[in-house]
Order: sequence, then structure tokens, then C-alpha cells
Amino acid sequence: MQRFDVLVVGAGPAGSSTAIHLARAGARVLLSDKAVFPRDKPCGGGLTGRALKRIPVDPSPVVERDIDRFQLRLRYGSSFTRGHDEPLIRMTQRRRLDAFLLEHAAAAGAVVRDGTRVEALDVDDAGITALVGGETVRADVLVGADGANGVVARSAGLGEGIVRGVALEGNVPLAALRGDLERTAVIELAVLPGGYGWVFPKGDHANLGVGGWGSEGPRLRDHLARLAHAHGVAFEAVTDLRGHRLPMRRLGTPAGAGRVLLVGDAAGLVDPLSGDGMYEAFVSARLAADAIVVGDLDGYSAALSAALDRHAAASWAAKRAFDRYPRTVFAAARAPGVFRVVAGLLCGEVAHPADARGVARGPLKLIARLAG
Ligand SMILES: Cc1cc2nc3c(=O)[nH]c(=O)nc-3n(C[C@H](O)[C@H](O)[C@H](O)COP(=O)(O)OP(=O)(O)OC[C@H]3O[C@@H](n4cnc5c(N)ncnc54)[C@H](O)[C@@H]3O)c2cc1C
Repeated sequence: MQRFDVLVVGAGPAGSSTAIHLARAGARVLLSDKAVFPRDKPCGGGLTGRALKRIPVDPSPVVERDIDRFQLRLRYGSSFTRGHDEPLIRMTQRRRLDAFLLEHAAAAGAVVRDGTRVEALDVDDAGITALVGGETVRADVLVGADGANGVVARSAGLGEGIVRGVALEGNVPLAALRGDLERTAVIELAVLPGGYGWVFPKGDHANLGVGGWGSEGPRLRDHLARLAHAHGVAFEAVTDLRGHRLPMRRLGTPAGAGRVLLVGDAAGLVDPLSGDGMYEAFVSARLAADAIVVGDLDGYSAALSAALDRHAAASWAAKRAFDRYPRTVFAAARAPGVFRVVAGLLCGEVAHPADARGVARGPLKLIARLAG
């Protein structure tokens, strides 16, 4: 029977990053994923400025385009465009990014097994026993990085307190789209309840998607067809259609129990407003690895809440305000100075809208009031 210090289940951004940090610290780590890499994951593939500050390796070799402008549009009508002096998002494809991170985990010293499902998890006071690709493995600590539909959370009695949104996305050739998307991402606001639509240009194609409350599941195809149409593309021309869940935890929801820690989507860390989760995957990976290295597993949930909950509270509030009063919030977002704060939030330079100074304070306070 093979023994490890840590078994990491799932090699998305959260799992591979956790394995990189742990292996660099000298831990014996097994990183296992049921998929054979390179594999894709339904995702816009946008690395926000704040995610770039936390990713454990420089992703430049797999970045296809830098975005420093956003076009924001309300219900396919009125729109405005704002720019920033540094990239707000670096666009990659998850097939490429995740394989790149996996390679770095192996190079750091983690034992990597793809095409290998983890099952039959058993957690007791002495440690973890699991079947990894049919072989019995023992470990001291289990990290659940197995995403929105993972099994680790359930096996540890975790996973309550998570709201599950849904998203559907696909690709079209860049040349098929209207408008200049050279360095611009388009965000279509108030086109479905609890979310938005996006157009993210990549190397030779653009990723189109819609995400919202879980109850929108049956209507996602219609929402995506409307988005494609608004950008001059027939729905039939959208390829690689894939749907996936967006797990968003309520503030303070535990992400650990005994010897089990959850990271990334397995812990429900998707940002409720933006729907992005890679920043949270990288932050939770770092904190989980630190907790394991210093032997303070019980401190992990509190450290995670301290790192993420203030920002997440602001995101939940803005999401409520947008859902209830889209026109007013759109007008407030258009007001002078507000986009500078949004850019600061995206790049991790502003922790919370309440920290904003200057002319943006009034419109931002209005949005906070509308959230109730
Ligand atoms: C449509 C859509 C668009 C998005 N766009 C963005 C975006 O532009 N930017 C952004 O930051 N975020 C975006 N997100 C969110 C982002 O995709 C997730 O937050 C991110 O993938 C979380 O990473 P993770 O490592 O936690 O989980 P995942 O990336 O889901 O990885 C989980 C891994 O676990 C493996 N696994 C599961 N069960 C087992 C098992 N039993 N044994 C072994 N392996 C297992 C899976 O094969 C998978 O590889 C988007 C999400 C969706 C749905």
C-alpha cells in the first residue's frame, strides 16, 4: 500500500496549485484526477488581475490574449466602454492552463496520476484510506479539489450552505463576431436572472456564455442563442457547447472537517457576482497548503473566511442590487470613477467597494443601499 502525507483529489487550478505549494514545502503529495490531461473544463478561461497575483506559476506561455477594456451593456441596449492601464484579464483556455499547472505540480515533486478516479474514501482518526485508480492509498490529510460535483465534501459531511448557479458556454470563430474585440471583453448585464452573458476573445476564437441562478437551467440554451444573435452569430454556429455548475457558498460555510480540507469549487468559492472562481481556487490552495504545513488544519476555515468573505459579501450585495434594480445599478456603474474601482477590485488592488475614495463613493453607496 502506498502512503502519502497528502492526497489531493482533482487537478483543476485548486488541486494543482495546492500540490505545487505542498511539494515545494517538501510534503509527499499524490495528485489524482479522473480525467486524462489535457482535458477541458467549461469555463471562460479568464484569469483576472487578482487571480494573476495568486497563481503559483507564471501562466504567460498559455495566455492567448490580454484584455484591458470592458464593454458593459444593459439588456442588449445601451452600453459603455471603459479601459484600464494594465490587463484586467488574461485570456487562456482551461485545456491549456490546467495541463500547464499539472506539469508544474509534477515538476515540483508531486506524484501525479491523471486518468485515475478517487473513490471509496474512508476518513478516520488515524488517516485517510482511498481507492485511487483501484489501488489502496493511505494519507494523513485529504484535500478535496474535485470541483462543483465532487465527492470529497459529501464524504466529510461538508457541502451544505452552497448555492448552485448554472452556466452554459461555447465557442465561435473570432472573425464571425461583430465589433472590435482586439483587447475588449463584452459583459451583457440583466439578460438573465442572477447573472450575465459574456463574450471573451481568445487567440482565434471567442468564448460566449451565460450564467445565472440554478433555476435558469432549462432556459440557458435560449439565453445563449439570444446572446449569439446579438453578436451577429447564429446559435447553430456556436460549437463546443458545455454547461456546468457555479457553486457559491454562504459566508462562513466551513471548508474543513478533521483531516479533510476543501479548496476551489469543492468549497463553493465561486464569486457570486462575477462567477469567476480561479482567484478563489488559488487563494484557497495557498491557505490549505499553509494549514497542512504548519499542522493547523482546524484554522483553515477561519483563514479562508478572513481572506474571502469581505469581498464575497460585497459581491452578494451587488448581485442582489443588480437583480432587483438593473437600470439604476447600470446607471451607477456608468458614473465617473466607478469603473476605476471595479478595475481595482478585479486586479486585487481594492479589497471592498467601501474602501473606494473620491467621486465613486456616492454611486457605490447607492448600490449598497439598493441591496437592502
Ligand atoms: C461556464 C463557466 C465559465 C467560467 N468562467 C470563469 C472565468 O472566466 N474565470 C474564472 O476565474 N472562473 C470562471 N469560472 C469558474 C471556474 O471555472 C471554477 O471556479 C474553477 O474551475 C474551479 O477550479 P477547481 O480546481 O476548484 O475545480 P475544477 O476546475 O472543476 O477541477 C476539478 C477536477 O476534479 C476532478 N475530479 C472530480 N471528481 C474526481 C474524482 N472522484 N477523482 C479524481 N478526480 C476528480 C475533475 O476531473 C476536475 O479535473 C467559470 C465557470 C463556468 C461554469
